[in-house]
Amino acid sequence: MDRLSNEKIPSAAPRESNAGVLAQEIIERLTYRIGKDPKVAKPHDWLTAAILVVRDRITDKWMESTRKAYATDAKRVYYLSLEFLIGRLMRDAVTNIGLMDELREALASFGVDIDVIAALEPDAALGNGGLGRLAACFMESMATVDIPAYGYGIRYVHGLFRQQMADGWQVELPETWLAHGNPWEFERRESSYEIGFGGSVETVNVDEEVTRYVWKPAERVIATACDTPVVGWRAKRVNTLRLWTAHPIDPILLDAFNAGDHIGALRESNKAESLARVLYPADATPAGQELRLRQEFFFSSASLQDILRRHLQQYPDFTSLADKVAIQLNDTHPAVSVAELVRLLTDVHGMDFEAAWDIARHTFSYTNHTLLPEALETWPVPLFERLLPRHMQIVYAINAKILLEARKQKSHSDQEVRNISLIDESGDRRVRMGNLAFVGSHSINGVSALHTELMKETVFADLHRLYPTRINNKTNGITPRRWLMQCNPDLVTLIRGAIGDEFMDNTEALQALDAFADKPDFQEQFARIKRSNKVKLAQLVQSRMGIRLDPSAMFDIQIKRIHEYKRQLLNIVEAISLYDQIRSHPELDWVPRVKLFAGKAAPSYHNAKLIIKLANDVAKVINNDPSVRGLLKIVFIPNYNVSLAEIMVPAADLSEQISTAGMEASGTGNMKFALNGALTIGTLDGANVEMRDWVGADNIKIFGMTADEVSKVRAEGHNPRAIIEQSRELSQALFAISSGVFSPDDRNRFTGLIDGIYNHDWFMVAADFDAYATAQREVDAIWTDTASWYSKTIRNTARMGWFSSDRTIRQYAGEIWRAG
Ligand SMILES: *Cc1c(COP(=O)(O)O)cnc(C)c1O
Repeated sequence: MDRLSNEKIPSAAPRESNAGVLAQEIIERLTYRIGKDPKVAKPHDWLTAAILVVRDRITDKWMESTRKAYATDAKRVYYLSLEFLIGRLMRDAVTNIGLMDELREALASFGVDIDVIAALEPDAALGNGGLGRLAACFMESMATVDIPAYGYGIRYVHGLFRQQMADGWQVELPETWLAHGNPWEFERRESSYEIGFGGSVETVNVDEEVTRYVWKPAERVIATACDTPVVGWRAKRVNTLRLWTAHPIDPILLDAFNAGDHIGALRESNKAESLARVLYPADATPAGQELRLRQEFFFSSASLQDILRRHLQQYPDFTSLADKVAIQLNDTHPAVSVAELVRLLTDVHGMDFEAAWDIARHTFSYTNHTLLPEALETWPVPLFERLLPRHMQIVYAINAKILLEARKQKSHSDQEVRNISLIDESGDRRVRMGNLAFVGSHSINGVSALHTELMKETVFADLHRLYPTRINNKTNGITPRRWLMQCNPDLVTLIRGAIGDEFMDNTEALQALDAFADKPDFQEQFARIKRSNKVKLAQLVQSRMGIRLDPSAMFDIQIKRIHEYKRQLLNIVEAISLYDQIRSHPELDWVPRVKLFAGKAAPSYHNAKLIIKLANDVAKVINNDPSVRGLLKIVFIPNYNVSLAEIMVPAADLSEQISTAGMEASGTGNMKFALNGALTIGTLDGANVEMRDWVGADNIKIFGMTADEVSKVRAEGHNPRAIIEQSRELSQALFAISSGVFSPDDRNRFTGLIDGIYNHDWFMVAADFDAYATAQREVDAIWTDTASWYSKTIRNTARMGWFSSDRTIRQYAGEIWRAG
């Protein structure tokens, strides 16, 4: 057995943590670990030293958590995700371990401001958007609700690109988050696994009945673990985020080098390292390239080998695997794990196929994040077969079982059986990763109530009929530590004064704030804090972009990936229409507004990049038009990431959640804003539906078509041209864009974009425009009645507690994982 159970080996004594001890240790780390004389240390050195001191305390807790899981035979949860959008860790770790005041004091004794050095920490953007941020919130919540869990992913050297603007166009630059090293992580050279690609499968006849398969990969690389501790609230437990790096088996081909081929000598090395080099920047669309499939298999295989090794350290064999291990697949990116687990159990550990398949199905569960048929991952059979020949055989074997089951039930027509198949035979043959994840899992969940219902009716309708108990809902959540306590400390102070501290351990206790929603003095304090958050954002905009914002204007914010279905275009068109009206009716009392945007477009997504350029072009015209009298400003802040969200979310008066109904699976940005006291203007889409139920229909501004109406209109055909012609505001705004009012240097720049609305209006921009514009004027009316505004926004904060990711994780643990 393992040394974990050996009582003769002592543990390090936990340290004291008063400011004096922390200060002394910071000097020690600076001197001996960083090798800097404190007298000449740079801010970055102080940051690293402070992190190392905090990390030691976390490490004490980490070992304790690991020992506890081991001693209690607890079920372990593994969260497999190709993305973790974690952002900065320092503030999170320090507040969760309860050392903020002590560390602040310790650093201050050297004249170092903790807020200044915390802002130097790079923002780890190992994800694109909501899916990756969800994985990060879940990691923190799993530690908070005391579930022994590991996150598994890839340690990308370059995370999501850094966005710059050049003349209003998005320019992508590489993100170098590791430039100063990463003091949070521990490299685990001993936790290394071989990962194969390509080659062939050999058949060995063990006896007349048993055939063994041996995969002989043509290429092999080494996956090595890099661990980051994740601390739960009040340091309840510390879990591990294990990210894989890739190394060659032969770092250098010496024969080639000695023969003078210096570049060829590094071929293996470069090829291996390319696996963990960059995050694919596409969001909600499959990347489709071979390197991506390699990344998916690389991290799936490494994670599963690690999981099986850990299981065998504690248990004699794999018959108990499904009782002791739950593996959650975050979307289909790790779906090849289903075939890899079957391969490892059969080919490597000698189990028979039926037993292995049974274990796999009871161990995996799968979260679906998108319904768009074109967004579901599929791989061409020839590519899959060339890269993973043994897995291809296993996929065929699984498929044969499933199709036989469907045929036996006689419940499915030929077409329905074809829909269930793991292989799409309709064009060039492709492996359907969504179907593989579905059949290989005992639970398949959607991420909001509406999305889950639509899953049953659309993408998985036929699989749902075959396995009617598998689909369930787990509405997404956000961690209230990062998205309230850390990003909005003044509001937290106000809330504690009003209702006490219970909400800090149970977010739903925020309900008690309801009683304060109509109290004038509480409203006044709430408004004062909102204003001070807006002043901070205005300072950021002033210093980064040289644009002055009036903090008494309504801050109307839409921040998220740029996507046609998220409809930043609808927002911009409405802004143009408002601009027209302000100029033609100067006599009216317009509510001053600042419309803020931020978000990245996938580099290959032409229309999304054009929408960014349009926002910037429109901003230039409106912001410089004196006849607007400062009543409307438009600002696109570059390089949206978690750290920017932490500043923008608490500063929002109005939150824009205006996706085409039926297209946003859940959204989590919507939750962050409402929790921080913004009013939402939104469609009945994703989690907005449940937000309306919780905050009350009077406290959210819902507009536009429902998901049912959208699918009906799409099926029956839709005449956007007629709609546009009936709306003077809309036709004027669209004409202004398409005729070059905002792009005098290139009058046809946006013609194609606007033609899309005239010709098919797939995203219902024209169809929803009037409802949206009307809703915006109703928002203005509420704003004008200050007491009513704060009564609603305070109720948003009060009633959003259910959207804590602690609640989501408790539901996963109770209903899917049966853990914790
Ligand atoms: C929360 C968050 C998202 C998700 O936002 P949605 O509005 O739900 O799409 C994306 N990116 C970052 C940086 C976030 O913090």
